[in-house]
Amino acid sequence: MSTVSTTGIITVSNECKACDHCTFICPTGAISGKLGEKHHIELKKCINCGQCLINCPFGAIEDYSMVNEVKAALADPKKFVVVQEAPAVRVALGEEFGLAPGTNVKNKMYAALRKLGFDKVYDTEFTADLTIMEEGTELIHRVFNALGVEGFENSGPLPQFTSCCPAWIKYAEDKYPHVLPHISSAKSPQQMFGPVAKTYLPEKLNINPADITVVSVMPCTAKKYECDRPEFMSSGFKDVDYVVTTRELAQMIKDAGIDFLNLSDEKADKLIGLSTGAATIFGATGGVMEAALRTAYELLSGQTLDKVDFKAVRGLAPVREATVEIPVKALGKALPVNVCIVTGLKHVDTVIEDVLAGRSNYHFIEVMNCPGGCINGGGQPIRRDTY
Ligand code: SF4
Ligand code: SF4
Ligand code: SF4
Repeated sequence: MSTVSTTGIITVSNECKACDHCTFICPTGAISGKLGEKHHIELKKCINCGQCLINCPFGAIEDYSMVNEVKAALADPKKFVVVQEAPAVRVALGEEFGLAPGTNVKNKMYAALRKLGFDKVYDTEFTADLTIMEEGTELIHRVFNALGVEGFENSGPLPQFTSCCPAWIKYAEDKYPHVLPHISSAKSPQQMFGPVAKTYLPEKLNINPADITVVSVMPCTAKKYECDRPEFMSSGFKDVDYVVTTRELAQMIKDAGIDFLNLSDEKADKLIGLSTGAATIFGATGGVMEAALRTAYELLSGQTLDKVDFKAVRGLAPVREATVEIPVKALGKALPVNVCIVTGLKHVDTVIEDVLAGRSNYHFIEVMNCPGGCINGGGQPIRRDTY
């Protein structure tokens, strides 16, 4: 079992040129050092987001690697190694092989993962759908609680915050513990996948759960921290064993001599490899909100989504708000649901302080640490040509 974090996920190497750029990037003020001095990261304040890493002009910031452990599991004939990949990986991995940013290489990625030796290739989208259903249902329960509907008395306060970004969760735990009851109790898609793989697959494929290794490919360095959190053992084992980033997967493919660009397209394995379009949009800011709203809309109105347009929650502004009218069949009226989307933790403090002071009229708030969402996560390819 891996355990990170005596030194932290993100560290500054001796290559630091003391340019001070990272102190402006860090959303939590975790980096200290003056111009001309090697910089340092204060573990307690660091939320492992990797934004400093992808923005350091000298490549002087590193993330903790689990690649050797993954390679050892793949080489061990006793291990049944399954892999999940988040939606934001497939549109960035191609950059490491010279393709234009945004090129969707999902089907080549599945083929490459099989060539690397993974026994089953699944997709985090399956469990993103589970997270959406859980979060959407929880939101409905909290709204009913606020309206005094009988049977929903213990459903938690409004507004409800999203819970799938581990950098945001650590920030809330460290700085705003009083806001924790407002955060959805749903696990992130990565952490839902682990127990599903370690409980459902043994039953269906007749495998000893102790022999299953679950690997995630994520656009995110904070997901390495998340998988090592001690509470994520609900399968009876460590739910997700190892996380590799998009960059690290590209390097593994190159190290194995796989001709990525000429691979034939393949599909994900069945059982837990299917998903909806709602799961796909998780990787961009507003995506979790839109997906959960669609679920809530369908459950509350009994109507299909054909006539519903959630354009109001899309865009790239760091703080966006909208009101979505949702017809509630059981109450015989439409409810206005006020939503807010925050992308980039530097913009979240005012939103949280309004909630804690009782000044907020939002029902649902999505918070993603990285500007633009996971597509711009700390584990994504680094474009040094933009400097
Ligand atoms: S941005 Fe990189 S080189 Fe500049 S101070 Fe930070 S770690 Fe050092
Ligand atoms: S990983 Fe994120 S929180 Fe930690 S030092 Fe870097 S930018 Fe700051
Ligand atoms: S926004 Fe996405 S990539 Fe960035 S820290 Fe959160 S989960 Fe990770």
